[in-house]
Amino acid sequence: MMLGLLLARAGIDVTVMEKHADFLRDFRGDTVHASTLRLLDELGLGAQFAALPHRMIEGVNATIQDTTLHIDLRRLPGPHKHIALVPQWDFLELLATAARREPTFRLLRSTEVLGLTRSGGKVTGVRYRDADGVEKQMHAHLTVACDGRSSILRQDAGLATRNFGAPMDVWWFRLPRHADDLHGLNGVFQFGHGCALIDRGDYFQIAYLIRKGADAAMREEGIESLRREITELVPWLADRVDQLASFDDVKLLDVQLNRLRRWYADGLLLIGDAAHAMSPIGGVGINLAVADAVAAARILAGPLRTHSVTRRRLAAVQARRWLPAAIIQRVQRTVQDRAIAVAIGNPEGLREAPRAVVLANRFPALRAIAAYGVAIGPLPEHAPDYARR
Ligand SMILES: Cc1cc2nc3c(=O)[nH]c(=O)nc-3n(C[C@H](O)[C@H](O)[C@H](O)COP(=O)(O)OP(=O)(O)OC[C@H]3O[C@@H](n4cnc5c(N)ncnc54)[C@H](O)[C@@H]3O)c2cc1C
Repeated sequence: MMLGLLLARAGIDVTVMEKHADFLRDFRGDTVHASTLRLLDELGLGAQFAALPHRMIEGVNATIQDTTLHIDLRRLPGPHKHIALVPQWDFLELLATAARREPTFRLLRSTEVLGLTRSGGKVTGVRYRDADGVEKQMHAHLTVACDGRSSILRQDAGLATRNFGAPMDVWWFRLPRHADDLHGLNGVFQFGHGCALIDRGDYFQIAYLIRKGADAAMREEGIESLRREITELVPWLADRVDQLASFDDVKLLDVQLNRLRRWYADGLLLIGDAAHAMSPIGGVGINLAVADAVAAARILAGPLRTHSVTRRRLAAVQARRWLPAAIIQRVQRTVQDRAIAVAIGNPEGLREAPRAVVLANRFPALRAIAAYGVAIGPLPEHAPDYARR
């Protein structure tokens, strides 16, 4: 949606296809980071974004075997010193509304892409099923696959993927939050369990870590077993765990961590999760997908105007965005392997807090780097001049 908006502001004919009729899906990523908030300001959308119902995270806390690390975001450089939590459907509708003001933009909802069309080895567009269920084709000078971690276009393109694996999956659920409960984002790892509590105002969105592939067996144990584990991990939630009536209230996120070796082919570019599925650690997937879109728009708007998008220009998008994705995935892999795999892999969990946490507690500069890494990230992107309002 971000790429559609930017290209439309460059006067380029752009069609975004979305298979669902709306953006209303619960437990998609809802974090909008400081660098994306600044981007929205540059696009003249800051005030509209601020008017959306949102919650601000100004600090991230992690409690690991009784050692607590506090990362303060209020000292970040730039105007936004927090991460905003906004329902993703509101954020996407905001972008869609802004894009619709451009005469060259078209959003086709209830439109499912089925695969690529090719001519002489070059991707020439997509096959899709329209809102009436009719199969059609659309020709395009450039097709951008931004269809997420289960990308059908990535599969169709047959591009090689590096899979890094993950030791955990995530259960998502809600529990009520009282006014005097913890604020911001809080992670707790103790006794062989781990979870993150995200303050959403009157409820906590909870990401509860389970061993990879253990979903079915753990559901067999019944909801009471989950309630018990939560109470053991976060004792003050004992008064409300009964609100989890059954496993129908618990959604599984199959954690994937992978990256394409090449993000493009003739006539095709992949960005966001389709190019690099991110682990939920740090909640940075949206930020990265948006940054990919901005880089793609900046690098490709000129060649798209003259219908001269070459493989070299597509390679330039990957060259720009590969490093931030690779750095963040490297950090996620380290946290997964060194901390999470041990923390949830045996009943005692980690015997003590990892060295990095102990060091960060000692040196404020390390905490400042962590705050920058999470809320802004490597190589933040800025709106191209043509898109600024
Ligand atoms: C449960 C969960 C929680 C997460 N929490 C966070 C978080 O807190 N913070 C964060 O930053 N990231 C989070 N993430 C990751 C984040 O959602 C992704 O990294 C980010 O949304 C990637 O953006 P994207 O545009 O590449 O793909 P997506 O957001 O996945 O968007 C892909 C879009 O393509 C559409 N689509 C797919 N296939 C087709 C098709 N064949 N035809 C037409 N349309 C199609 C989908 O409906 C969807 O709208 C979470 C992910 C999950 C699953």
